[in-house]
Amino acid sequence: MALPIKGLQKTSLLDYSPYTSCVMFVSGCNFRCGFCHNPDLLVEVDKTPIISEKEIFSFLEKRKKWLEGVVIGGGEPCLYDELPLFIRQVKDFGYKVKIYTNGSNPTMLKDLINDNLVDYIAMDIKGSLEKYDKAAGVKVDKEKIKESAKLLMDSGVDYEFRMTCVPGLVEKEDFEEIGRWLKGAKRFFVQQFRNKSCLDSSFEKIEPFSVEKLEEFKEILEKYIDKVEIRA
Ligand code: SF4
Repeated sequence: MALPIKGLQKTSLLDYSPYTSCVMFVSGCNFRCGFCHNPDLLVEVDKTPIISEKEIFSFLEKRKKWLEGVVIGGGEPCLYDELPLFIRQVKDFGYKVKIYTNGSNPTMLKDLINDNLVDYIAMDIKGSLEKYDKAAGVKVDKEKIKESAKLLMDSGVDYEFRMTCVPGLVEKEDFEEIGRWLKGAKRFFVQQFRNKSCLDSSFEKIEPFSVEKLEEFKEILEKYIDKVEIRA
């Protein structure tokens, strides 16, 4: 079976900065975060056709001179056994590869890291471990999340943790716990929540945190993590 790539952003200067990249969106996810901005990749997924590998590889061949990286997100790419082979073929073109993941499949992450198939991993943190299920909208195996986070921190591969901060799902106190959990991590992005096109439309009524509040979260995390930045 082919990787269910349902979307392709042909150029991005932001997703894999400083590299110019394209971004591929895989459908399907085992989480149901109410604030997810890609509902089309989660519900009624059959409405959108899969972009064939032939089309993808012909695009990558043509863009070799202009693009440096390929970003694979979704949805959750690590759900698919086809991912390593797909990445291997992408890397044969000479591209650097970054993936976005929710960290629920540490076995896949380990394989990708051990086989040198990923150059950068951006892993979502949904909240303090205690509140993880509420933020993810499903019952999450927290041991797997912890295993993935540790794997990244011990791996030597370039990585970041990133967390979308949604009022009601996270509060100031949680950042002490998150900081203690991820103590010594390289990089953490405190991301602003956008109340538009959410999987659960009730999230569109939530007023995002002020930038000052995000700064407070950042300050707490800085006690534990080397580099903390805000993505507003
Ligand atoms: S935000 Fe990410 S982890 Fe959550 S449902 Fe959307 S794709 Fe899945």
